[in-house]
Amino acid sequence: VNTGSKPDISRVKSAELYEKSKTYFPGGVNSPVRAFKSVYGTPLFIEKGDGCYIWDADGNQFIDFCGSWGPLILGHNNPKIREKVTEVMQNGMSFGAPTALENELAELIIKNNRFVEKIRFTSSGTEAVMSAIRLARGFTGRDKILKFEGCYHGHSDSLLVKAGSGLVTFGETSSAGVPKSFAEETIVIPLNDTTAIEQAFAQFKDQIAAVIIEGIPANNGLIMQDEEYIHFLSKICKDNGSLLIFDEVITGFRVGFEGAAAYYGVKPDIVTYGKIIGGGLPVGMYGASAEIMGHISPDGGVYQAGTLSGNPVAMAAGIATLTELNKSGFYKDLNNKTQEFVASIQRFAAARSYKFKVFTVGSIFWFAFTEKDKIQSADDIDASSMDKFKIMHRELLNRGIYLGPSGYEVGFVSSAHTKIELEKAKRAIFEALDL
Ligand code: PLP
Repeated sequence: VNTGSKPDISRVKSAELYEKSKTYFPGGVNSPVRAFKSVYGTPLFIEKGDGCYIWDADGNQFIDFCGSWGPLILGHNNPKIREKVTEVMQNGMSFGAPTALENELAELIIKNNRFVEKIRFTSSGTEAVMSAIRLARGFTGRDKILKFEGCYHGHSDSLLVKAGSGLVTFGETSSAGVPKSFAEETIVIPLNDTTAIEQAFAQFKDQIAAVIIEGIPANNGLIMQDEEYIHFLSKICKDNGSLLIFDEVITGFRVGFEGAAAYYGVKPDIVTYGKIIGGGLPVGMYGASAEIMGHISPDGGVYQAGTLSGNPVAMAAGIATLTELNKSGFYKDLNNKTQEFVASIQRFAAARSYKFKVFTVGSIFWFAFTEKDKIQSADDIDASSMDKFKIMHRELLNRGIYLGPSGYEVGFVSSAHTKIELEKAKRAIFEALDL
């Protein structure tokens, strides 16, 4: 029941498509969050996107802050990406053999990134992270990995694990179908807790292959970590012969060309990328020093492969995207624009004493219905506040603003969002907050 101040948008065509899609796909979707289970209504079926706008099947227009969950840092239908992809497609789509385009994208990355000497392309973030874990295990000869409660690393078995009870726990599976014995190789601890990690290293001495953390945790709200804590992680890994893996699938090429590693000034042993690196097409990547990457097949004994890995069309989209991001001033402009946008929303909420905060870094933002000034671990988030996000989500859709359909998801600003759209979005957000 809509009790807001605006009538609901028409969703007749989207609803029809959803009825049909439910007969084909579990929950009607090909990735669960798309099903709108955490917000009002049923999914909008998107027909096209251009710049910072998307249009749904009913012809509703939205300013999009989801950006396909992060890849679209240049906005939708960017002409430079489209032209490059179209040009490359004229020569065929995939060969399963090396192409010069892979070299071109690799060179763009390696020459402009202090954290990787050699890389391997995959077709998704999940694959990149799963492979990075295998590499860490192969390199160290150890089995256990340590992850943090509230970090998401894709849907591979050993990472679909959440904390059990207690400070340092063997993980419990967070999905049916993950063997308990796999979860037992994953230790889960809270973020921002030095004691927990010291205890884990004491308890599992010489058994931990790697500590994996999202560069900046952004899958369970935006859980900013102190720089000292990240440096502490790096040191404790080094002291214990474990590798530090930065999962930069969201933060890579987002908070800067060199991602969160450069943001903190920390050198991870392995980094993983996804999303932006493919400019909207399926690309993931993991990379490390030449020594560590020397353990990957066919040079070394850690097997990893992919029929469509490094396929020319996806490489073309990545090349066109990263070429733009590598231009001087790109991140400064994007981040400044985002920070101005966020600051004015924050000022508005503060002036009215709303229990609402916008947490932000670079061009990422997260709306949180809280009084807390800092959210640094998953436990700091009040699950009941998501009811307020639900209302805000509907009110913003009704005002032409599209956010990802869950209060735990962050929003992204792209270079295609101009001051005009950000101003429009701000007005809509103010109205929704005032309800
Ligand atoms: N790692 C992080 C930090 C992510 O945010 C995601 C996806 O959202 C993944 C890994 C998995 O990437 P993909 O969805 O491309 O498999």
